[in-house]
Amino acid sequence: MKAKKVLQIVRALDFAAWAHSTQRRKGGAGEPYINHLTEVARLVAQATGGNDDKLIISALLHDVLEDQSMHVTYDMLVENFGNKVANIVREVTDDIALPQAERKRMQVVHAPHLSRRAKILKIADKAANLNSILESPPKDWSEARKREYFAWAAEVVAGCRGVNAWIEAVFDERLSLGQF
Ligand code: ZN
Repeated sequence: MKAKKVLQIVRALDFAAWAHSTQRRKGGAGEPYINHLTEVARLVAQATGGNDDKLIISALLHDVLEDQSMHVTYDMLVENFGNKVANIVREVTDDIALPQAERKRMQVVHAPHLSRRAKILKIADKAANLNSILESPPKDWSEARKREYFAWAAEVVAGCRGVNAWIEAVFDERLSLGQF
């Protein structure tokens, strides 16, 4: 990989760590939020044989417009990481003006219309979330709520299929472990 690409990936990692520095995952272990981002980045990197630096960068930044307290904007992403990355991140970002249930429904509706890269990223994100629920579930989640999350994630991923067999297999394996 060219030096410039490595540099951009490390810059994205540092940017993500800063943007999410005050956040923890809602799982029982309360992992630092960056662990989620590095897992998703690792999954998309493996899925694409390390050949898609823009996708790795987008994975590191995928929650930055949605779940952060530093007021990162789309324009900041364009300025720092270029149009392609900013657009992939925007594709996988919910409309935060909508109520939670509507946001979840819109993910199912939008999934088939995402770009190929955004679909791979979406599947990796859902695979990471299933793993979090399996390994460190939020303490206040009932079995029914976990079952509901798994079913919803499967619906979103159904709209993303056909882009990358490896990431789909990772997702399916984790999905099969959710016997709640
Ligand atoms: Zn995420």
